[in-house]
Amino acid sequence: MNGELISLWRGRSGGPPSRRGGRTVAWPARQPAEPTARAPRVVVVGSGFAGFGVLRHLEHHLPADAADLVLVSPVDHLLYTSLLPQVSAGEVEPRHVAVATRAALRRTTLLLGHVVDAGLAGRTVTIRRADGSRTTLGWDRLVLAPGAVTRTLDIPGLADHALGLKNLAEAVYLRDHVLRQLEQADACADADRRRARCTFVVVGAGYTGTELAAQMTRFTRRAVGAYPRLSPDDIRWILLDLAPRVLPELPPALAARSMDLLAARQVDVRLGTSVSDVAADRARLTDGDTIRTHTVVWCAGITPSPLISALGLPTSRGRLVVDSEFQVPDADGVFALGDAAAVPDTTRDGQPAGQTAQHAVREAAGAARAVAASLGHGSARPYRHRDLGFVVDLGGAAAVANPLGVTLSGLPAAALARGYHLYALPGRTNTIRVAADWLLDVIAPRQIVQLGFLPPEKSSINAAEQTDIYPTR
Ligand SMILES: Cc1cc2nc3c(=O)[nH]c(=O)nc-3n(C[C@H](O)[C@H](O)[C@H](O)COP(=O)(O)OP(=O)(O)OC[C@H]3O[C@@H](n4cnc5c(N)ncnc54)[C@H](O)[C@@H]3O)c2cc1C
Repeated sequence: MNGELISLWRGRSGGPPSRRGGRTVAWPARQPAEPTARAPRVVVVGSGFAGFGVLRHLEHHLPADAADLVLVSPVDHLLYTSLLPQVSAGEVEPRHVAVATRAALRRTTLLLGHVVDAGLAGRTVTIRRADGSRTTLGWDRLVLAPGAVTRTLDIPGLADHALGLKNLAEAVYLRDHVLRQLEQADACADADRRRARCTFVVVGAGYTGTELAAQMTRFTRRAVGAYPRLSPDDIRWILLDLAPRVLPELPPALAARSMDLLAARQVDVRLGTSVSDVAADRARLTDGDTIRTHTVVWCAGITPSPLISALGLPTSRGRLVVDSEFQVPDADGVFALGDAAAVPDTTRDGQPAGQTAQHAVREAAGAARAVAASLGHGSARPYRHRDLGFVVDLGGAAAVANPLGVTLSGLPAAALARGYHLYALPGRTNTIRVAADWLLDVIAPRQIVQLGFLPPEKSSINAAEQTDIYPTR
């Protein structure tokens, strides 16, 4: 492992270089005359629901001098992913779903970069900064919460031509891309080519793909008003899934009501079907049909961050194996949670918890307890999850929800979905801004503009999600 050892000692602590647990730690340039004992360092990897939540709990429950809290993440925010389809549909501004970690985590030091490797014996992590340079950081407790990336399959053309929806850049790019298609369709005299530009394919009818197809249909049908030669009838959104129903992870009643809402919105849902190969101007389907399109959005599953396989620790379906108190077996001081870890859920016979924000948020409280307990504060508890239900927001007054097992659809479900998001969004500033976006969407037309933040050559799933920066084992 190469790179400098960096110092993160904050406040007034200082002293000569020392050895703790067999590793060297560096000290700040300005050193007080008397060496002082330092607090153990807790390094959290990832600022998603899991990592952010762990730090929030540790900040609240650990005495100020009990630990030196450090967050390593490539971004300076928690991304509220549930609203990404609304970012693509232009209903919510991108910045408003990004909760600033510096403002929310006042006792934590933020280091921007990807952790690309970890030395368990030497208790270090290797961090790759945005400019490609590397540095090494020591830890006393390591909490791994790097989440997941889009799972791409070995389908010809998929890696080059399909778009993902896992981060903010991808959500904004998708919106730009769709508007670009409308722009080009409007300028096109040939009816077939115009139809291809106005045809959009979403693969994967889980909650992400279903919400996206429904919300984008609504958005594009309205957006055509800005293009004189297009009409709402030109727009076609196709939603594919190999499963026999939409929303396979949710109760059948929710799926059935979602199907009705999708039909009312004229989304062409094709079940038992996926793509078999993808090109720049068409998608071939597994049922033999070929669709002329310039847009395939791949929402057909996720896989843990490549960091997990780079560590060489035991995994289950790619997720890091942990016990019910979030500890990685045989890796002293290492904890993991969220989408990247197979946390056994004691309410489901120890089956791995689902890869949802709801789980990640609850796991964060438990993992923080476990970390605190390992530092001598309080005690750990096995993870238990009580499902509160799900909300699926299809845009406007169309939504389905099952709070505490009661199935709702239409306006009551839409009101519940939005109320839930406002409650669940950490950070008052973001809550106010998202609520304002929703209000503005009712009283003012959406702005049909392309932002152009991500160049097309960086838009493939692998490039946008930086999956190639990790060492392979
Ligand atoms: C479009 C979309 C919609 C969704 N909607 C819902 C929903 O409505 N309800 C629901 O319950 N769930 C939903 N989910 C799932 C939910 O977002 C995840 O289950 C949840 O985010 C998992 O939390 P996490 O902290 O494990 O991972 P994430 O939230 O993905 O966070 C991972 C963090 O780690 C960082 N990171 C990645 N690699 C590294 C590295 N090498 N080093 C350091 N940091 C790293 C990332 O930048 C990020 O900050 C949705 C997901 C998507 C993509």
